[in-house]
Amino acid sequence: MSRNTLHIGIVGAGPSGCYVADALGRKLSGARIDIFDRLPTPFGLLRGGVAPDHQGTKNIARQFERTLGKDDVRFLGNVAIGRDISYEELKAAYDVLVITIGALEDRRLGIPGEDLDGVYGSGQFVAWYNGIPDGRALEPRLDGKSVAIIGNGNVALDVARLLGKTRDELASSDLCAHARAAFESAQIEDIWLIGRRGPLEASFTTAELAEFGELSRVATLVDPAQLPQALPDELNEEQKKLAGKNLEVLRGYAARGEQLGRPLRIHFVFRAAPVAILGEGRARELLLDKTRVENGRAIPSGETFTIPADTVISAVGYRSTPFPGLPFDEARGIVANEHGRVEPGVYAAGWCKRGPQGVVPANRADSLAVAELILADLADHEAGGKPGGALIDALLAERGAQLVDFAGWQKINAVEVAAGQGRPREKLARLEDLLAAAAG
Ligand SMILES: Cc1cc2nc3c(=O)[nH]c(=O)nc-3n(C[C@H](O)[C@H](O)[C@H](O)COP(=O)(O)OP(=O)(O)OC[C@H]3O[C@@H](n4cnc5c(N)ncnc54)[C@H](O)[C@@H]3O)c2cc1C
Repeated sequence: MSRNTLHIGIVGAGPSGCYVADALGRKLSGARIDIFDRLPTPFGLLRGGVAPDHQGTKNIARQFERTLGKDDVRFLGNVAIGRDISYEELKAAYDVLVITIGALEDRRLGIPGEDLDGVYGSGQFVAWYNGIPDGRALEPRLDGKSVAIIGNGNVALDVARLLGKTRDELASSDLCAHARAAFESAQIEDIWLIGRRGPLEASFTTAELAEFGELSRVATLVDPAQLPQALPDELNEEQKKLAGKNLEVLRGYAARGEQLGRPLRIHFVFRAAPVAILGEGRARELLLDKTRVENGRAIPSGETFTIPADTVISAVGYRSTPFPGLPFDEARGIVANEHGRVEPGVYAAGWCKRGPQGVVPANRADSLAVAELILADLADHEAGGKPGGALIDALLAERGAQLVDFAGWQKINAVEVAAGQGRPREKLARLEDLLAAAAG
């Protein structure tokens, strides 16, 4: 390896970017690492995705803070690649470039009515309640009695649970003030959780599914006829374990019956494929097709039914958002890569490399593997000698960018924690407020 200082650029300060920075920093002493984020705040979906009432999951941020605070690491927040700095400029500046931009764009349902008022992607909706500045203006319609959530993963459960919690049950969360106000004034009576396939195919984790049993004002309704009597033989051991535990929880809900007197009902509806969202200008109903599941696929029957839906939230997956020049796999919605290699000197890790699956710790193994790949490639080539952050700093200054560095983030953090008053924090959700706090 060259004796020149090695300059490493990482795009995206979410969990994957932080894990990669940590791994490379440990192995390459003397290397300079710059980690960019389009937001003034680090931690990606750990801050902007993970549910605000799941604070335990967010503890890992302390480890990421230590990484970003290291002498050889710089956090360059409020710098969007593709807007403030181009991909070509990054490649000119850094010997090694790692793309960890996650997957932030909602996949579309592809059905009529998707653009009606009252229809949202879960990415937008979650960004709104979690205080991500570009989600702040959403102000979703929660003024009807019925909400349909499409998708059978944990994100769908997060949204339903948060809508179902009382003010007291949300007291220890960092749900943003604007979302708390909207949730408190909503008069929702029914939430429909829609899965195209059956309970065995749902990707809920059992702990999240079981939380519905603890919600004081919610009746969780499951039709026992929708639950299979036994687990099919073709499932592998791991699938059997997860599906078996989920089935047990769902059977428990089914056995509770209607739980009359509770003001909010959450209905689990399996084997129902969305066909259209109906309404004039505004969503009012969801048209569904009863399906059967064959070889893990939902097969429509042509037999349809409707449910009332004044608000529709789709939680059916995400795509990465590429910037100009970045090799991109349009079909999969991820950065084009082979085991993490994008092009010479450029790598990808995390959700933008393998798609939007897996919890925060799953990105650690992935990021470590990509770091190992980078080390192996560096051993084979003369590397180093590019200008690194000096070039980028000059470009940012020339363009008048309002950079938020690690000290700026610490100031934001202090303001938010102080404003929490008993809550973990009160997030600043507007860009101008974040930038003002960072400037102190
Ligand atoms: C709603 C939701 C709830 C979740 N709940 C949990 C949970 O409870 N527990 C759990 O373990 N996991 C949870 N996850 C999964 C977890 O959030 C992901 O595994 C993890 O965040 C992926 O990390 P990443 O770094 O690859 O991507 P991200 O976390 O998305 O980070 C990508 C970063 O790149 C930045 N970026 C994007 N484009 C650019 C650009 N052009 N220029 C500069 N920066 C850019 C983004 O601002 C972001 O900070 C949840 C995910 C979602 C969506």
